[in-house]
Amino acid sequence: MPLPTTKRHAKRHLMPFNIMRKYLLFLLATLLFSSVNAFDSKSINITRSLAYDAKKSGISPQIVKEIVRIFSWKIDFSRDLRRGDRFIIIGNKGAAPKAIIYNSGKKRVAVFSYVDKFGRLNYYAINGKTLYPSFLRNPVKYRRISSKFQRKRFHPILKTWLPHRAVDYAANKGSKVYASADGVVEKRKYIGALGNAIYLKHGANYVSVYAHLLRFARGLRVGKKVKKGQVIGLVGSTGRSTGSHLHYELRYKGKRKNPLTWHLPKQKRVPAPDLRRFQSQAREILRNFR
Ligand SMILES: [Zn+2]
Repeated sequence: MPLPTTKRHAKRHLMPFNIMRKYLLFLLATLLFSSVNAFDSKSINITRSLAYDAKKSGISPQIVKEIVRIFSWKIDFSRDLRRGDRFIIIGNKGAAPKAIIYNSGKKRVAVFSYVDKFGRLNYYAINGKTLYPSFLRNPVKYRRISSKFQRKRFHPILKTWLPHRAVDYAANKGSKVYASADGVVEKRKYIGALGNAIYLKHGANYVSVYAHLLRFARGLRVGKKVKKGQVIGLVGSTGRSTGSHLHYELRYKGKRKNPLTWHLPKQKRVPAPDLRRFQSQAREILRNFR
């Protein structure tokens, strides 16, 4: 007789304990979830300039430099930034941010950190690609390089010594000319000595120039987007030119750089096995910072 009583008694105690345990587990899960969820964040609200407003928000100059480096592919900091635009820096506890989001109301650009197997931290868009594209070294199949990037060369037509801050690729008339990277057509017209010329803009800092073209690719208009490797025109000898060749310039922050030796950006991707995890974390962050 006393045994069942004890059992019943014990059961009466077990029931509330079970509920208590469930409640505790629930509480623990909620706490864990919210600690993962509660990303530490700081905002820069643009009122005057990025540097000024970042300083006001207590954002370090290193982070500002990083923001400019990453976002200059999508934002022209000298033209696009407006009062009311916002940068959100997420998960920055003195270390590299987990994510950085730019929001202008109309446009949102977000990047998320990912550390590759070599331990290199980089920022990628939610599609798993860096904002910077890759560049082709040579935008044409050429026979030979007829003039390299040099401070002084004797100009065959002007008969004088002039700098040549470009590469001349001797190629057959009508050879295809390729866009050296993803970009936007900035100019497409006859420009004096350059003849038929195309200017492509790649991010805020890079411009590539293709000159002496026989003609432009059909449908190529100012403001149109082009892909790396897309045919934009044909090799010719228009403008101040002695023979069929492509005059190619690479400009970085307005200065002509040697296209053959310049350290060109190369797009990186989050490796396929990590992509799903990377993207679900990125979506989680975006849900919290609309
Ligand atoms: Zn040239």
